[in-house]
This record gives sequence, structure tokens and C-alpha cells, in this order.
Amino acid sequence: MKLLLVGLDGLRVDLALPGPVAADPAFAAPDHPADPRFAAGSPGSAPPADPPVSVEVVDGLAPTLQRLTDGGRLVPVWMTPPTDSGPGWSSLLTGTTHEQNNVWWNEFVGHRLGGCPDVLSQVFFANPRARTFAAATWSALVDPNGPGPVIHTRPDQQVGGQHRVMRATDFSEGCRSADRQVVAHATQVLNHEGPDAAFVYLEGVDEAGHRSGAASEDYREAVRTADEHVRFLVKAVAERVERLGEDWLVAVVTDHGHKPEGGHGEDEVDVRRSFLLVHRISPDPDAGLPAPLTTPPTLRSHEVTPALLAALGVRAGSWTPDHEVGAVRDVEPLGPTRDLRFEW
Ligand SMILES: [Zn+2]
Repeated sequence: MKLLLVGLDGLRVDLALPGPVAADPAFAAPDHPADPRFAAGSPGSAPPADPPVSVEVVDGLAPTLQRLTDGGRLVPVWMTPPTDSGPGWSSLLTGTTHEQNNVWWNEFVGHRLGGCPDVLSQVFFANPRARTFAAATWSALVDPNGPGPVIHTRPDQQVGGQHRVMRATDFSEGCRSADRQVVAHATQVLNHEGPDAAFVYLEGVDEAGHRSGAASEDYREAVRTADEHVRFLVKAVAERVERLGEDWLVAVVTDHGHKPEGGHGEDEVDVRRSFLLVHRISPDPDAGLPAPLTTPPTLRSHEVTPALLAALGVRAGSWTPDHEVGAVRDVEPLGPTRDLRFEW
């Protein structure tokens, strides 16, 4: 089974898919508490909006996401604050916590992503013949000269096209033109090359959220546009299923929501609520979702990558349990013990 993972930054799933979210009580409240350091109103947080803005729910904003949900599953995901994009995507795409990858800000200063391989790299490590592809509007995810990147560059695999990485360059209309560029490139690669695992990231919804807030028509229009982008990406792989008999897992995820007035970063339910939408496109119409995606009632951000890898059948390598992998220790400067077994 191949993987197409689509990342839609800053998408409020309760606005994009109001029916399915209302039908699942696990979407109502976070499944784990937030660290008080990242609570709304804590020192350093943005001041509250005055007066509060209400969000109008408009049906039918995301017909493609709805169709994927109808034939798949919408799993509630609860983000662990801080709900900024850097920590969010680092956790979602590598299967590690903030403490493990040390990404707490969008600046990525002091990150440990070098030891936290992304989902595509984990596919490659499981089988070095694997072909992978990433395309993104946000350079921090894919640019080796940016603050990240979250997706490992793997230059050895880029030679010969085994690993392909594309980042947007056309920001003449902000993220709108950049997202179009990413989708145009991604649909070509997906349709003609069918990588074993692909990640495509779009930022237009988040940009609209910051510009106008989640309660705005601007935001709703950005959701409609993102949904149409997803339709193009799904179309690219669906043709391969039809013509080549391939089996694809399509997954869609976000890193946070947006407040009605715009913004995120702290612990409000509207910004912590995320989702993993999974849908299998297979020549066998009776092929259901793999078991790792049917059982968990909810996921946390760092559990998304492990769930996807388990669904694909990708297993991590291991060492004998008594070997403490990666530990750095020095010997004390005490001189020789004179135990001749160790004198060489
Ligand atoms: Zn974000």
C-alpha cells in the first residue's frame, strides 16, 4: 500500500466537516491536559479578543473531505500545546513529542530533528528501495537552508530521484499562488511516478486564518480552495489505482485550528482540535482500512506517524535491548586500573 499524506495547515475541522465532528463525542474536548505554560492567558500569550467573535457553520465547504470521510474514517486528533506550526508538524510528521524533538517554536532553535526521522524517511529506512516525495509551501518543512527541515533532505536518495523534495517559490499572491504551485508539481509526480510515500503541504487556510480569522468568509473561501486542491491530489492517485491496480492510503491532517478572530498557539479547544482523515483507494472495493486505523478512538499528534506506518506495514529496525543506542558517555580520567584483561 502506498501513502499520500496531505497536510492542510490551520484547518478547523469543525467548520470543514461539521456533521462528522458533531457526530463523534471524542471531538468535543481534548483527551489529555495541556501544560499550564501554554494556557491561554498565560504570560507571553496573545491578549483575548474583545468582544468574542462567533463562528458561523456553513455546510458543504469541503465536499472532497466529506467524500473521503464517507468512504473512510475521521479520527479525532488532539494536539499537545504549544499549538504553533513548528511543534505541531514536527510531532505529526516524525511521531515524536516536543520533548523528544525539542521543537517548541517556529524558529526551531536547538531542534533534535536529525534524530527524529520523518514519516517518509522511516519508510525509506524500513526498505531502502522505497521512493518518497515531499512538496510544501512552508520552507521549514522541506528546505535544508531553512529553520528545519522537518522532512529529512537525504541528498543521496535525491540523486536519481529516489527522494524528491519540492518547495514553493511563487509567493506573488502569498500562499495562494504558492499552494497552486505545490499542487501542480505534486499532481505530476503523484500521477506519473507514484512514489511509495508522499507528503504534500498547503498553507493557504492558515494564511487566511491569520489574515481574517476563522469566522470570516475569507477563511471559508480558503477552506473551499484547499478542498479543491485535495481533490486534484486524490485524482492523481485514483487514476493509478484504476489503471495500474495500485493500492493507496490517502490521509489528511492539520496541525491546529484557528480562533474566531484568528491565531493559535495555546490550549483552546478550537486550536487543539485536529484530525486524521484516512481513506483507502483500492482495486478491491471491499478492501477496508487497515486495522491500525480502525481501532483508536482518538490519537495524539505524536501517534499519527506510528499509526500510518503500522497501516502500511512498515516496521522500525531494532537493536538488542541491552545496547543503549545513542548514549554519549565519557570515561573518568582516573588512569589505568592495571587489570591486564583491558590493557592492550
Ligand atoms: Zn500551522
